[in-house]
Amino acid sequence: MDEFALVLNAGSSSLKFSVYGRPGAGGAWRLDARGQIEGIGTAARLSARDGEGRTLEERALDTAARDGRGALDALAAWLRSRYRGARVRGVGHRVVHGGAGHAAPAIVTPAVLADLRALVPLAPLHQPHNLAAIATVAELLPGVPQVACFDTSFHRGQPAVAELVPLPRAIRATGVQRYGFHGLSYEYIASVLPEVAPEIAEGRVLVAHLGSGASLCALRSRRSVDSSFGFTALDGLCMGTRPGALDPGVVLHLFQVLGLSAAEVETMLYERSGLLGISGSSNDMRVLLASADASARLAVDYFVYRAAKEIGALAAVLGGIDALVFTAGIGENSAEIRRRICEASAWLGIELDAEANERRGPRISRGAGRPSVFVIPTNEEWMIARHTIALLGLDAARGSTA
Ligand code: ADP
Repeated sequence: MDEFALVLNAGSSSLKFSVYGRPGAGGAWRLDARGQIEGIGTAARLSARDGEGRTLEERALDTAARDGRGALDALAAWLRSRYRGARVRGVGHRVVHGGAGHAAPAIVTPAVLADLRALVPLAPLHQPHNLAAIATVAELLPGVPQVACFDTSFHRGQPAVAELVPLPRAIRATGVQRYGFHGLSYEYIASVLPEVAPEIAEGRVLVAHLGSGASLCALRSRRSVDSSFGFTALDGLCMGTRPGALDPGVVLHLFQVLGLSAAEVETMLYERSGLLGISGSSNDMRVLLASADASARLAVDYFVYRAAKEIGALAAVLGGIDALVFTAGIGENSAEIRRRICEASAWLGIELDAEANERRGPRISRGAGRPSVFVIPTNEEWMIARHTIALLGLDAARGSTA
């Protein structure tokens, strides 16, 4: 391979990466490797697979990756050993927050970075790690252009009522509005709809991204008109460790009556609630589905109940639906959860095709003139790679070789 583009998704304890390469100018970009460094700060491990899913690397990183910087150093060393002599043409980053101003990905410049730093208070748990990765890459690969791709961009352009948080104007002026997240996943799904489901692609489509984070997006003509995430990624559906929609009075109670600190409430809302909080045992849907424990079953019941309830709400926003799409870890892999959500949404006219559901579709419903249901694997990394390649003009043939 002569040149590659790197996609990074830097979190607090993990660094996910994908490498897209091509044999030379004019060739097609394709996935060459993907992997992650997990356990940053504790017991870091580097794992990588090639484009066909075969293991390339699986090893502990000892003390090397004790922070984000160390993880990127370790990744850079691995990339050098695998891609010796190839040229990095660009680095695309997943950045959680683009604010109200970034309705599209952006080439990283000092001005863009200043914008994104100002958004740290809106996403304090994620944005700093995303920006630190951009700064480290600028140091390690000086001169290599970087692109920031935002989880919020796809939702810009929604009607004013969908973006509103009904608090006083002075509070809203500080940036308190509904932003929506998982946008790169929804953008990917919207981009493949004409190919996978041309008959409904331009219609009213609800996409259910059900992974460890979970949300819904209402699409009309492949554009987001509303989603279940709001100001933060805490709203909406029940998630692995986040509660989803919660009466704000509960949060007041945590502070005023139970005397919890802001840090304790934050940890509870982001790490201890949702499926884990209800079951008291696991945030993993596979574990809960296999368990006979009453709390585990209640967690699954609530997950399905909440998903069906939010589907109803967004179906009302769309004035009915033409299709429902399942994606992400649970949506792509759990026939049982898909079946149960579809059964709870039968009032919309959905009729599941049990056999197609077991083999993951792509179409898993039957009947003409009814909403259809699909399973479509998401690919956020490829969406970031596509943006990076397009914004940096990497598809154009180069005059000289590296
Ligand atoms: P993220 O990228 O947000 O970490 P994923 O989209 O990979 O999350 O989804 C991860 C979740 O998917 C896991 O926590 C697990 O509960 C769920 N999952 C994966 N495979 C299955 C399966 N076969 N059945 C049920 N749930 C599954």
